[in-house]
Amino acid sequence: MAKEIIKIKKPSHRKGKTGIWSKEQLKHNSEWHKGKKLSEETKRKMSLAHKGNKLTDKHKDNIRKANIGSKSHFWKGGTSKLAVLIRTNIMYSKWREMVFLRDDYTCQECGNKGYIEAHHIKPISIIIEENKLKSFQGILSCSALWEIGNGITFCKECHIKLDKFRGRPKHEKEIFV
Ligand SMILES: [Zn+2]
Repeated sequence: MAKEIIKIKKPSHRKGKTGIWSKEQLKHNSEWHKGKKLSEETKRKMSLAHKGNKLTDKHKDNIRKANIGSKSHFWKGGTSKLAVLIRTNIMYSKWREMVFLRDDYTCQECGNKGYIEAHHIKPISIIIEENKLKSFQGILSCSALWEIGNGITFCKECHIKLDKFRGRPKHEKEIFV
């Protein structure tokens, strides 16, 4: 490669300077920006973590939103609309809150109290199948879905890690395989 330098628009604070940055400098700049983004993301997570069991409604809402639909790692490519209905209604919020409360807002895998998620030990998909759930009313009145004993608290990292284990947390595997 003959061209080792790239001309770019000068940022205002570089007025009067060369206006030419080497590839290395550009690379450095872009990595610096990436780093900056990450640290803001980390700050956000830390702020969530520090709220602990004093999550504000806004934070709860954000967490809920983050768990809806395609953003959720529970998402099965849209095959189960019922599962989405289950995870996005008020009963789910209450169930999750009770699971968190029982587990003292602590990941039951690693003990962290960061960004936590409530996991159905017996998968929602199996509960839907077993109880032949077809409607929203059916969901609301299905006690198996809302048993606190079927829930467990994981931090995000452990949840992802455990989900990768044949697509299921190992707790489920131990119980159901
Ligand atoms: Zn954990």
